[in-house]
Amino acid sequence: MIPKSHNEQSGQEPEEAPEATSAVSPAGRVAAVLIPLPLPEAYDYAEPEGLALEVGDIVRAPLGPRDVAGVVLAMRDGAGVNRPLRPLVGRLEAPPLPAGTLAFIQWAARYAADTPGAALAMALRGLGSPLPKARELVVATGAGPVRVTPARARVLEAAGEAQSRADLARAAGVSSAVIQGLIAVGALKLILAPPETPLPPDPTLPGADLNPSQAAGAEVLERLVDAAAFSVALLDGVTGSGKTEVYMEAAAQALRRSPTAQVLILLPEIALTGAVIQRFAARFGAPPHEWHSGVAGPRRRLTWEAVARGQARIVVGARSALFLPYRNLALIVVDEEHDGAYKQEDGFIYHARDLAVARAKIESCPVVLASATPSLESLWNARMGRYNWLRLTDRHGAAGLPDVELVDLRVFPPGPGKWLSQPLAEAMGETLARGEQSLLFLNRRGYAPLVMCRACGERLRAPDSDSWLVEHRYSQRLICHLTGFSMPRPDRCPYCNATESLVSIGPGVERVEEEARQLLPDARIVVFSSDTAPDAASGQALIAAMATGEYDLMVATQSAAKGHNFPALTLVGVVDADVGLKGGDLRAAERTFQLLTQVSGRAGRRERPGRALIQTWAPDHPVMQALAAQDRDAFADLELAERQAAGLPPFGRLAAVILASRDPDRLETFAQAFAAAAPNAEGAEVYGPADAPLGLIRGVRRKRFLVRAQREVDIQAFLSAWRARARPPASIRLTFDVDPYSFL
Ligand code: ADP
Repeated sequence: MIPKSHNEQSGQEPEEAPEATSAVSPAGRVAAVLIPLPLPEAYDYAEPEGLALEVGDIVRAPLGPRDVAGVVLAMRDGAGVNRPLRPLVGRLEAPPLPAGTLAFIQWAARYAADTPGAALAMALRGLGSPLPKARELVVATGAGPVRVTPARARVLEAAGEAQSRADLARAAGVSSAVIQGLIAVGALKLILAPPETPLPPDPTLPGADLNPSQAAGAEVLERLVDAAAFSVALLDGVTGSGKTEVYMEAAAQALRRSPTAQVLILLPEIALTGAVIQRFAARFGAPPHEWHSGVAGPRRRLTWEAVARGQARIVVGARSALFLPYRNLALIVVDEEHDGAYKQEDGFIYHARDLAVARAKIESCPVVLASATPSLESLWNARMGRYNWLRLTDRHGAAGLPDVELVDLRVFPPGPGKWLSQPLAEAMGETLARGEQSLLFLNRRGYAPLVMCRACGERLRAPDSDSWLVEHRYSQRLICHLTGFSMPRPDRCPYCNATESLVSIGPGVERVEEEARQLLPDARIVVFSSDTAPDAASGQALIAAMATGEYDLMVATQSAAKGHNFPALTLVGVVDADVGLKGGDLRAAERTFQLLTQVSGRAGRRERPGRALIQTWAPDHPVMQALAAQDRDAFADLELAERQAAGLPPFGRLAAVILASRDPDRLETFAQAFAAAAPNAEGAEVYGPADAPLGLIRGVRRKRFLVRAQREVDIQAFLSAWRARARPPASIRLTFDVDPYSFL
């Protein structure tokens, strides 16, 4: 069993250290084994005779009353050891972790100010399931049955290639009993076939005919791949400029250079993987290996092993694919590198873009960061000359960038209970009349973000959390998006018992859809959110249906905003551009600018010009001005200057410290003690403790500190020193979040 990791460090060790029961023989060796649990260090075990362990081997180690998987970090002679050690149980049947992966795990743990065991748990995730079983297939033996019925004849006719019993029964239109009967009389036999694995990619197949700026970019990347050394390239190209085509050429070059080279393509969202997988499959004649939460356990195990054995040449995956045990990593691509989904916010807390750069350094290979709206951190590094900066300023082919216009809602206010202004409504009508598609963007699931009682003024909240309940009309429920708590929409106010007093406040995608249907009764309208597309398959089906023109209008949250090409989409309407600016956190402006640029970039592909209408109450805000002018650099200048003045990333360092407990009194007492124990370090300031904005989640109270430090400060060392000075009691959970993206 591989236990889950968690970056929750309480004063008590989650497991007792291995208890000695037998002495190591003086001649025997000692293995330092790292266990995938939040333990402070590796434990020593005796090597059983005949095991001949090596560093990286995955072993079974006794821990307390059970056995857990662990990894050998070091072997040494046991001669000097004079305390008894427990012997290891044995070696796991799995390929060992390569040295680069071991080094990466330890680097990542230090970066996250977490334990190496928590990082190791990320790397061993694929081992949690058994390998897929060998498949049982049936083939004809050539021996004819004594009695041939019409059903049996159909089976024998259909039994060409080896196939599963179910497939053969379906092909012949018979019941499984008929198949069984033919096996019994020896006319069919069972064979075992190994689970299906993707064919190897063929990097010699021709790629797209690149346009001159793509070709120039690809040439630089191929040169970096040839150097086989650490480097970072920022592939900075407007939406539709063909960044994927460019980095696919770099991948092809990496595979051509070495028959064992491996390439990792990281994507922020599962919904994007389908399209990219298809493009890789077309480019290389075989689908790449996929790695994300939608891949079933046994298939994950197969992929994990294929990566560890060097058989998986191209992996396309979500952030956790970074922790796979690559043998010979030759290139990492982080597509949509600015995307917040690269930040893992729970368990082992890390940012996959930052860790990808670290991994590339450890593996001595190039990393390509691709985006139309690079993060300010990456832009800054490119401007400072630390990254190779490749710019693609035009869309591929005839397609131009869309016209972006602001709609001043002060001038064109939507009617009461309405959200679409007159200019946007008119544009939607014209687009429909031309037979083209529109996308309305609003980053809010459900019908209304808030339900209020008109009688007593209370807002409906989840019983055990500090968050408002979101009204969902499809499911007729009120749902807490934080915890998943849900209840039917009540008839009476739960606070004052008034009837007919509850009103829905504000719009969600379902409500915008309702309004769009009233405006365009003949249009075929669909909502895309995590409610209508809860998994990768349904999301990809919706995207495919939109791409092939089955809908005229899509009302979507951000999952549909990125990376999809809808050829007939010519109008994008941003329903509430101000919504993201209200977060008030460090990256609110940056995130809004990136998201709205990406969304607007969906409009107009191929030969059709596109148009983006952005509804805002604050058209003078610098973000809105930069969007309208499509002036990314002006926005970056402004924002970087503000960050510099405030000493915020990328000019300074931040870390969040979160204390959580079910016991408010103990939390308060410990928070004060912890504050008093903060180390005094030059160039570092501690703010807090303060109640977290989401101070109560599922009955757990949370308090936060924020550490702001100058770039030169080793903020991880600062955090570790802090924790060492005031270890939390078992009732309190302490979490460090280095370079936080969420301030809730
Ligand atoms: P980006 O990732 O920069 O938004 P894509 O790589 O998705 O851009 O390219 C946008 C569209 O243009 C895709 O449909 C892609 O197939 C097409 N495209 C880009 N470059 C070429 C090329 N050189 N030849 C043919 N089609 C291309």
